[in-house]
Amino acid sequence: MNFNNHFNSVADSYLFAEIASRVAAYSKANPDKKIIKLGIGDVTLPLVPEVIKALHGAVDDMAKQETFKGYGPYEGYDFLRENIKSYYGATGVALDLDEIFVSDGAKSDLGNILDIFSEDNTVLVPDPVYPVYVDTNLMAGRKIIFADATEENGFLPMPDYSVNADIIYICSPNNPTGAAYTKAQLKEWVDYANKKNAVILYDAAYECFVSDSSLVRSIFQVEGAKTCAIEFCSFSKIAGFTGTRCGYTVIPKALEKDGFNANKAWLRRQSTKFNGVPYIVQKGAAAVFTAQGMKEIKQNLSYYMDNAKVIADCMDDLGIWYTGGKNSPYIWLKCPNGMGSWEFFDFLLNGAQVVGTPGAGFGKCGEGYFRLTAFGSKEGTKEAVERIKRLFK
Ligand code: PLP
Repeated sequence: MNFNNHFNSVADSYLFAEIASRVAAYSKANPDKKIIKLGIGDVTLPLVPEVIKALHGAVDDMAKQETFKGYGPYEGYDFLRENIKSYYGATGVALDLDEIFVSDGAKSDLGNILDIFSEDNTVLVPDPVYPVYVDTNLMAGRKIIFADATEENGFLPMPDYSVNADIIYICSPNNPTGAAYTKAQLKEWVDYANKKNAVILYDAAYECFVSDSSLVRSIFQVEGAKTCAIEFCSFSKIAGFTGTRCGYTVIPKALEKDGFNANKAWLRRQSTKFNGVPYIVQKGAAAVFTAQGMKEIKQNLSYYMDNAKVIADCMDDLGIWYTGGKNSPYIWLKCPNGMGSWEFFDFLLNGAQVVGTPGAGFGKCGEGYFRLTAFGSKEGTKEAVERIKRLFK
């Protein structure tokens, strides 16, 4: 027996452990100081009433012979996929029902999709990056190259035709930088991918925060994307499903090469390795798209975006450079006075008892930058901003 030695090339995930240990040490030394955490990428508001009502109704369905559900369809119930289809329809994207696959979240699918790609593909990921894209490919032994995201390109790297990539990851609006590609910029990526016979794995987990009309919610709003892209989306951020677990992946039937059809292969993969998302959870997810569900969800999203504005206004006030905060719950700021990411972490923790995430933890280009998130409470965010202002003024 041999283990998969590629696991040896995956670095220990130390970012959040290191943050926790520094915070714990500070709290121990300063037990009277109240720490405000603006580092978390998890939502904090509870599920909205319309979703809760649907979840309860689905539990009751499971209690009655006539409505009980056993194994469901691998690709998700039609009632949910129909709603997702209409959601895309509202942005002008026409999908067939069998192009939509319901899953237990974007993270699983982002990792699992690699099953349908050969190991000799070269992978292009932005730096800094959501670590899942890197680690899942390292585990399979794939070659990874990086597209540097920097202040100069607004943390939105563009295609370089001298680079040959087969699998390209794009996350927009981005975690961790909050930067979002315009439709025109995405068109350049789509053209590159089609030209190079590459695939774009498009992570749309934060699409619900998009408000600018120059931006898109789905890569499929870009002409030509159906022959080169797969889109991953999630109920985690739009509806607070981080603990409830539901997401979906869109694989156009037009995505194929040499007789290999990605949509067909994924259904085959899912029917072999996955038995679907619980009926109860899918009923809760379907409620997100009802008129009442959307109304309630928009209130939660506004709550987070108000927090984002509070943080962004503070950065404007202090003259600190940042991306995000407008179509994203993340504010990615340049550490002032040339501080390194961890230096700024300690500076904020010691001086303002505010915790954020050092950019260096997301890749080498993240050094010197720092991520704050809008997922905290309104009061906590306001208080944190006041403390940061006092620190600089
Ligand atoms: N993609 C990005 C960019 C994320 O930041 C996250 C979670 O923070 C996910 C995917 C995971 O989504 P899910 O909860 O649906 O697995």
